Amino acid sequence: AAKTEERNAFRFYTPMMHADTRRRLQLAAELRQALARNEFQLVFQPSVELRSGRIVAVEALLRWQHPERGEVLPAEFIPVAESLGLIRRIDEWVMQTTCAQIQAWDLAGVPPIRVAVNISARWFGHPAFVDGISRNLQSRQLAPRRLLLEITESAMLRLGDDIERTMQTLDTLGIAVAIDDFGTGYSSMAYLKLPAVTCLKIDRSFIIGLPGNSNDAAIAGAILAMAKSLGLTTIAEGIETEAQHDFLLRSGCIEGQGYLYSYPLRPEEVQHLLCPNQPPVPTRLKLVPPRR
Ligand code: C2E
Ligand code: MG
Ligand code: MG
Ligand code: MG
Repeated sequence: AAKTEERNAFRFYTPMMHADTRRRLQLAAELRQALARNEFQLVFQPSVELRSGRIVAVEALLRWQHPERGEVLPAEFIPVAESLGLIRRIDEWVMQTTCAQIQAWDLAGVPPIRVAVNISARWFGHPAFVDGISRNLQSRQLAPRRLLLEITESAMLRLGDDIERTMQTLDTLGIAVAIDDFGTGYSSMAYLKLPAVTCLKIDRSFIIGLPGNSNDAAIAGAILAMAKSLGLTTIAEGIETEAQHDFLLRSGCIEGQGYLYSYPLRPEEVQHLLCPNQPPVPTRLKLVPPRR
């Protein structure tokens, strides 16, 4: 009986695997068009200073507004974009759009908070990466400290020996780096002392179990203590409960991000949150074209 069940189970899953493969292939075809068709959007998730509750930064997060499927999340399309070699162009679009958005907020009188951008391993490893970033900043006359580049441990690992030089260049330009999803990758202690690295983002997988799970509490506590003694700032990801907030605040974490404080927001919602007394803003901000 077990054998028949196994066979049936196998036959049951086959059509689903086909559907999954078909969906990926179709997404791939459509992803090639998405940039040209203007289907990407950025949303921005606030980061709050735990002690004061003040919003001190936002993180740009990519969304694909698919004409039929609706909103597609990065977890689904970024791996596809990577395998198609499209990720660099998408990352560049994200960087350009983020800089345009910072400029638009500035012109609207929004207080100048830091804006974090996620950088894929592909783009980070590209020889034109640092140049691309600084050209973006210059064309909009933005100070480098307005940006925080979020880079994962695995992206840093891929750079090999070039990592030191790249980070040195970023540091010289005044551009800061956060190690994203810290603790989930190849957590080399050597990365913590790289130039430009100013911040550790503690991955949500260590936050979920707080405060009850003693392993998570020990890991989060150790990361926070280490960051503090190295003079690095810390952001905890994915805070959803008051109990997590309290634990992190008591353990010396500086900033937090998560649904407890805010979901990712549209640009006009960010503006409203930071300037509550301003009249309502138009839904589509007019962006000033870059200076050449
Ligand atoms: P990440 O950089 O670690 O971003 C945090 C993710 O956690 C975001 O998912 C965010 O919406 C989600 N999140 C925030 N607070 C909570 C919470 O309290 N609970 C839960 N369950 N989730 C929370 P999102 O936007 O789907 O992004 C997923 C990943 O995709 C990001 O992880 C990042 O690695 C990547 N990504 C997002 N935008 C970009 C981009 O513009 N470029 C690149 N290269 N990667 C991006
Ligand atoms: Mg991130
Ligand atoms: Mg992260
Ligand atoms: Mg994460």
